[in-house]
Amino acid sequence: MASQQLAGTAVPELSGALKRPQASLAAEPFFDARNVPFQQRFFSLPSAITLPCQKPFTLIYSLLLPYNYSAFHEPQVYNAMALPRLTRGDYTVALICPMAHELAPLGEMLDQNHQPLQTIRDQNSYKLGSMAGHNVVIATMPGTGTHKAATVATQLLNDFPSIRFGLLVGIGGGIPSANVDIRLGDVVVSTPTGGFGGVVQLDRGKNLSDGKFMRTGSLAKPPPVLSAHVAQLSGTHEARGNQIKTFLSKLNPYMKTGGYTYQGSQQDLLFWANYTHPDEGTCEKCDPTKLKERHPRDDGDIPKIHYGTIGSSNSVIKDGEFRDKLRKELGIICVEMEAAGLMDDFPCLVIRGICDYADTHKNDRWQRYAAATAAAYAKELLSTIPSADMVTAPVAIQGGM
Ligand SMILES: [Zn+2]
Repeated sequence: MASQQLAGTAVPELSGALKRPQASLAAEPFFDARNVPFQQRFFSLPSAITLPCQKPFTLIYSLLLPYNYSAFHEPQVYNAMALPRLTRGDYTVALICPMAHELAPLGEMLDQNHQPLQTIRDQNSYKLGSMAGHNVVIATMPGTGTHKAATVATQLLNDFPSIRFGLLVGIGGGIPSANVDIRLGDVVVSTPTGGFGGVVQLDRGKNLSDGKFMRTGSLAKPPPVLSAHVAQLSGTHEARGNQIKTFLSKLNPYMKTGGYTYQGSQQDLLFWANYTHPDEGTCEKCDPTKLKERHPRDDGDIPKIHYGTIGSSNSVIKDGEFRDKLRKELGIICVEMEAAGLMDDFPCLVIRGICDYADTHKNDRWQRYAAATAAAYAKELLSTIPSADMVTAPVAIQGGM
């Protein structure tokens, strides 16, 4: 990526000083019944009864139902112009996610939404807001693959020139072992190990069945400000546990009934690497005697965070024996399909919720929950980084390229 070309792009809305998210900024334009104290609904009852044009059944229904009545049973008028409006130069963190079900939980982690802004070429789709004290840009990708990630990142840095770093947030395939007990819904964070920068680029070529692969590169390390806070947060988790469940509890009820919740340990199936899934669909017909024996976790559905090397490939890896080979030869604990397109050009950290074990039994049952746990980790990490650290960190378009 040509930094000179990016740096030379005119940015008319760039402001001199970074704006921190303000608590006093305009409130969200949605009316949300969850924000109305229950008693206040009863205070409105007398006047409602005296008005002949009131809708009595609707009123009674709204009083009896839980808080989410108005939010999910009545049409809402969304007025983007009522949201706070910042400039493109105010945004310091980029959150990049490939698919809609990865975008949804990230959007829910926003503390406040902001007005959309016109960008230079309008090629990317952005969602703007504040998260844990930082102004963030959430960018989605037009499909999976390392080259698409690179295109999105290039445009993003042109559109938002104060971005310090990116978090690549989404799902990936886990590679469990005797030393790294990965379960579905856990989170893997790219961490420099064994001479690698946190992400290893893989290229298996066209023949996916011969088990051959070629490591084509080890990508740049995450920026220091991120690495330092990842280490600090890891220490906090050792002492007090993580906050993933706390953040997940704040997802809206619609998402909680739509697959964004823990799917149950009985649905977390790890087969022997050489046992092939017999057909399409779920593992109902798979041989339970081929399951690897694993002890239930004492703390049940609390996701664990794992740190290590992530393998990034343009092709889907769904081969148990090949997966284990990656672990043995390269120490990889997770595989995904976007990071290699970003890491050389964009200072970022890869955060992957584990949705399968990269074998033939791979299906999409855990994808939404895994996307949610990754989003929750991203928010917890951002909550540990003071705004002052962002001011002194180099902007990605200069220092990270
Ligand atoms: Zn199966």
